[in-house]
Amino acid sequence: MASEFDLIARYFTRPARTAILGVGDDAALLRPSPGRDLAISADMLVAGRHFFPETDPEGLGHKALAVNLSDLAAMGATPRWALLSLALPGPDEAWLAAFARGFHALADQQGVELVGGDTTGGPLNINVTILGEIPAGQALRRDGARVGDDLWVSGELGGAALALRQARGELSLPDPVLRDCRDRLDRPTPRVALGLALRGIAHAAIDVSDGLLADVGHVLARSGVAAEIWADRVPVAWPGESMALSCALTGGDDYELCFTAAPEQAEAVRRAGHEAGIAVTPIGRIVTGTGLVCRGAEGEMIEIEGRGFDHFAA
Ligand code: ADP
Ligand code: MG
Repeated sequence: MASEFDLIARYFTRPARTAILGVGDDAALLRPSPGRDLAISADMLVAGRHFFPETDPEGLGHKALAVNLSDLAAMGATPRWALLSLALPGPDEAWLAAFARGFHALADQQGVELVGGDTTGGPLNINVTILGEIPAGQALRRDGARVGDDLWVSGELGGAALALRQARGELSLPDPVLRDCRDRLDRPTPRVALGLALRGIAHAAIDVSDGLLADVGHVLARSGVAAEIWADRVPVAWPGESMALSCALTGGDDYELCFTAAPEQAEAVRRAGHEAGIAVTPIGRIVTGTGLVCRGAEGEMIEIEGRGFDHFAA
């Protein structure tokens, strides 16, 4: 049977590219570029909680890195290095080979170098730590939203939540919609290029991982402002269906970017979206006060139940 060290050597050790020292020593050695701030983030995927244990391992390898890249995208950071810590129920090499394939494919595509991690036995648990760089002082933070800003979102929302409901047998999506939603849930595309293009344009940004209303709420709380969202402008994964709107407002796992920018920057925002190859849509406005109101097509207030995902909510 393969040892822990065989597995690390076989699936997670590759020649160092930009690291001074990568996998194989007690710690990796990295040298950040001069004049750059380091952005560091970690995200964990737990079997039975974030994914079904029988989920395709190649997709999981992709997703474990993608959700971390999404956090860097929301900061406007260029991804550089990653650490991968795995708890594995056993040395299942077919599983590991597929997982590593998914992970390395996205890492290569995004120029990320795997420089270390930890491998241990235990209930299946995947933790990635990611490091990126940003020209000093230019990060897109949650606390930068200003009164009068437009509120924007990239892509379409609600797809991952719709796919989850389909998997639970709660609805039946028509075929092309199902494929897109499934893809969104299993292999999300982190909006790294958009985050980079928004540096110097957006005032604040967050990635939509817990649900739009919840995530916008985090920006508002950090920035000390309030917002109005126009529900009928929110781009949804299944247009015309009311369930799709509630999934778009409160469903998690979409990994689009939500950001604010001054109204004078609207053209620049559209250009950034165009450069990054993703649609960007204004869905609301930052106003004074606290909290968030959601309005329908006639300007009426809409009450939304359950504002997003919280692991410890009652
Ligand atoms: P230590 O005993 O010092 O914790 P380990 O034996 O856990 O070292 O790891 C040996 C080397 O392999 C280290 O460089 C570590 O960063 C790397 N490593 C361990 N697991 C992984 C993994 N899943 N992915 C990438 N690198 C890993
Ligand atoms: Mg270790």
